[in-house]
Amino acid sequence: MLAINGGTPVLDEDAIAPWPEVTDADRDAVLRALDRSTPWRWPLEDVQELEAAWAEHSGARFAVAANSGTAALHMAVAATSIGPGDEVLVPADTFLASATCVLQANAVPVFVDVDPATYNIDPTKIEQHITPRTRAIIAVDLNGLPADYDALHAIADKHDLIVIEDGAQAHGATYRGRPVGSLGHLAGCSLNGSKCLSALSEGGLFTTDNERWHQNALRVLMFGDEIRGKTREYNARIMGWNYRLHSLAAAFARSQLERLPAMSQVRSTNGDYLAKSLMGVPGIRPPTVPDGSTHVYFFFPALVEPEAIGLDVDVEAFRLAVKAALRAEGVPLDEWQRVPVPGQTLFQEMRGYGRGCPWTCGHSATQTPYDPDAYDVATDICRRRLVLGSSTSSFGPPNGMRLMNEYAEAFHKVLAEHQADLVDLTMRFAAAD
Ligand SMILES: *Cc1c(COP(=O)(O)O)cnc(C)c1O
Repeated sequence: MLAINGGTPVLDEDAIAPWPEVTDADRDAVLRALDRSTPWRWPLEDVQELEAAWAEHSGARFAVAANSGTAALHMAVAATSIGPGDEVLVPADTFLASATCVLQANAVPVFVDVDPATYNIDPTKIEQHITPRTRAIIAVDLNGLPADYDALHAIADKHDLIVIEDGAQAHGATYRGRPVGSLGHLAGCSLNGSKCLSALSEGGLFTTDNERWHQNALRVLMFGDEIRGKTREYNARIMGWNYRLHSLAAAFARSQLERLPAMSQVRSTNGDYLAKSLMGVPGIRPPTVPDGSTHVYFFFPALVEPEAIGLDVDVEAFRLAVKAALRAEGVPLDEWQRVPVPGQTLFQEMRGYGRGCPWTCGHSATQTPYDPDAYDVATDICRRRLVLGSSTSSFGPPNGMRLMNEYAEAFHKVLAEHQADLVDLTMRFAAAD
């Protein structure tokens, strides 16, 4: 019997180990940083060590630690002097921060639909959005799968655009053998506690090979003023913020980074195995991984397809039923974003900085409002998506094959073995609507 109808759940309450896994090495690293962090001076050693280690891991020439992924992305946009009047292409389905980093620089995000197989920005739909004002493409490695950088760089080279990688969900993944963090001309990654490389709380990482952009990023990080290694002038040369990372967070992330290759391997193996186990389960579409890439499953997105079991109902009712039934089995599936980013109020009402900025500040081309229905693939994904992953349903170690087999068993139970009960449940959700 389905657990939602009183049966025994497939998963025990303690079946899933939370992310990140904290080891004695992590504890020692944080305690050591505690003793090294006073007196305060900048940059603190633990921050510098994290930067050096991330530069080495990612293969980027320069890495700068920041206090969030959002900050690191803003540093990337601001470092290239993108500003009023400029347009930046952003995938329509991503986390908000991939687009607000453009607004933060007073430039205009222009959204591009995503690819139906990879869920990343669709290179074949980019050129139709390029105008003389376009300066950059923000490529997001969504869910833990790198975007298609060969195609993106070919377009960028042709139109003289900058490629900014949002690698916030994908540390440890690779594209044609190259690591996330150096797949664009600049990158911003997140160290938020849920992410594949975690600072436990908050943090971010900026990278580039370009010396000038590196120098600019350092000024954006710190009041527009100091550049490391020089005497502080107390003279702001550009707009700057205070994006500096906490030393204890840096030490924790640095310690986790030592294990990132091993942890990413476990994530990939787990997610690939589950995706394979769910192939052929009716009513659900597991993610696929293109040749040449690895996927680290920050999210494991499963798209619900009631049509596949001949159900002619509102997709939302089916999604609610699948979610409720699987959650009762102990699988903590959840929705993620319900609409593409341009559908959010900030964009629909063009709030930005207020009074029309940046859209009608005088520098931008006149902008028509964002059409929330102009992104068919992104809209469809947002309607159908349920995700596993993140912090409470992690694909990272110590979770392994035992958990993946339990997840798979629960999906089979709900969608295949007890399909009639699932249909009943769907009808109840549809009637309640
Ligand atoms: C988490 C995330 C960010 C923002 O990172 P924070 O550290 O939370 O500020 C940006 N882009 C994507 C795709 C993310 O998932």
